[in-house]
Amino acid sequence: TDITHIRNFSIIAHIDHGKSTLADRFIQVCGGLSDRELKEQVLDSMDLERERGITIKAQSVTLYYTARNGETYQLNFIDTPGHVDFSYEVSRSLSACEGALLVVDAAQGVEAQSVANCYTAIEQDLEVLPVLNKVDLPQAEPDRVAEEIEEIIGLDALDACHVSAKTGVGVPDLLEQLIERIPAPQGDREERLQALIIDSWFDNYMGVISLVRIRYGRLKKGDKIHVKSTGQNHVVDSLGIFTPKRKETKVLEAGEVGWVSATIKDIKGAPVGDTLTHANTPDVAMLPGFKKVKPQVYAGMFPVNADDYEDFRDALGKLALNDASLFYEPENSDALGFGFRVGFLGMLHMEIIHERLEREYDLDLITTAPTVVYELLLSDGETIYVDNPSELPEGNKIEEFREPIARVNILTPQEYVGNVITLCTERRGEQINLQYLGKQISLTYDIPMAEVVLDFFDRLKSASRGYASLEYAFERFQPAKLVKVDVLINGDKVDALAMICHLDHSAHRGRVLTEKMKELVPRQMFDVAIQAAIGSKIIARQTVKALRKNVTAKCYGGDVSRKKKLLQKQKEGKKRMKQVGNVEIPQAAFLAVLKVD
Ligand code: GDP
Ligand code: MG
Repeated sequence: TDITHIRNFSIIAHIDHGKSTLADRFIQVCGGLSDRELKEQVLDSMDLERERGITIKAQSVTLYYTARNGETYQLNFIDTPGHVDFSYEVSRSLSACEGALLVVDAAQGVEAQSVANCYTAIEQDLEVLPVLNKVDLPQAEPDRVAEEIEEIIGLDALDACHVSAKTGVGVPDLLEQLIERIPAPQGDREERLQALIIDSWFDNYMGVISLVRIRYGRLKKGDKIHVKSTGQNHVVDSLGIFTPKRKETKVLEAGEVGWVSATIKDIKGAPVGDTLTHANTPDVAMLPGFKKVKPQVYAGMFPVNADDYEDFRDALGKLALNDASLFYEPENSDALGFGFRVGFLGMLHMEIIHERLEREYDLDLITTAPTVVYELLLSDGETIYVDNPSELPEGNKIEEFREPIARVNILTPQEYVGNVITLCTERRGEQINLQYLGKQISLTYDIPMAEVVLDFFDRLKSASRGYASLEYAFERFQPAKLVKVDVLINGDKVDALAMICHLDHSAHRGRVLTEKMKELVPRQMFDVAIQAAIGSKIIARQTVKALRKNVTAKCYGGDVSRKKKLLQKQKEGKKRMKQVGNVEIPQAAFLAVLKVD
């Protein structure tokens, strides 16, 4: 396609505002798939995404649209995720685009995450078109929401298209506006090849596949390419576009977005954010990559079955390939054996990685309670960072204990502002700003990261009946009165159960944690003591009483199938247990700390 007839764009939208539905409508209007093929929400292809109804990985679709002026345009749509845990993916997708559609649910209004993503797009010089979606709903107020967009984001929303992604109303007008207002890409096709790797993932048959945006030159099948960061050369064995199905083409040219496979077997062979060129032009400049994202929470992950360790390492490597934010290094726990310390962006990210490892790689894993990264000033003047409670130095070696603070931006309708402020205060928040913006209030707080990453999002939603929205980023480290709380089972410290918390909360947390553990640890043939301690001081204690008699005893002589069922049930329950000393501890107990409030 002639470069003047290409439009590369992303959709910025808060979860549920209709991005996937709109994308489907585009695909339908442009005939990318037959109606039969157009299953609901084709873009969310991972099973997990479908179940959770969110988009995790960015993907691309190339569509051909014949405009009212009779010309045919190539539209490259790069999908982006909408959850606060995944905003790094958004800036990655945006770097391949000249424009973005800001889709706002006209029955809801602007959300904090969209504001943040919109600013990212504006910073990257993208043309942002506001779109008012769901105008078919009786409660839709497109005019009010248009005003809100102007007021909160500062974008002119006067010409914003009114659409219903569901019924298709307004979608053709939106496509016309998109072609008119979003600039065509620039880049000389006769120049030497320079392409940005937006994403890479591992395919069991083809090896590494990369999604690329060609900046200059052209890329063909059979070309010998050079990966800038590794210095390695590879031969392109196939390339093409997503329609959204993977379709082979002969060439990708400057301005276009597509996939490339060069039988790269090493999963580190085509890193995200890297630059590709031809093997005979290795001195072509590196494109600015992506800002490296730092994980905000760390947890230990251990295979239930020690024989799975190698498979587990392999699986993490494959997942990390197209998830720059996934960090891991080996960890050895006295209680849980060999595993990995894994870094995540937030809780949702952690849950998703855990589920993908179990489903896609068939692993049974125990995940320990997540913690944030602390900064410690030691007595000898050294500064260290600790992401694992069991690796804390002795208390007397710590000069100052500092916790990470997040700058949190919240948008909430006025009627919930009281609840939201109460929540922020409970979470040790410090108010930085409060501002009225139309019918919404914008709040800025500094809150300890540990209080934000665990369940703040869910709490905020319930405090505001789902209406408040949130966006946050690491701000600074700040000294705090923090202590390590150990958990002892029958007198033995279990390293994987240790947690770091604020001194003022420690007594309460210790008590609730031991109570929770008592419910979760199955009864054994002997009493099990569960204690919480700070140093040598016990702050809470519970006992799991010994079993009196064999659980199957009452079935003897009775119904055999019932007895079998009972044994089967016990066996299943066991699957996710880990033997600690002579006590079996289930997965839920390791995460009990999350339920403590
Ligand atoms: P996403 O999270 O932004 O991808 O949102 P989805 O596309 O998954 O849409 C969220 C929900 O809103 C789904 O139940 C859609 O059917 C519904 N929805 C999307 N667009 C419209 C619309 O224009 N009108 C109505 N009434 N519902 C819509
Ligand atoms: Mg979606």
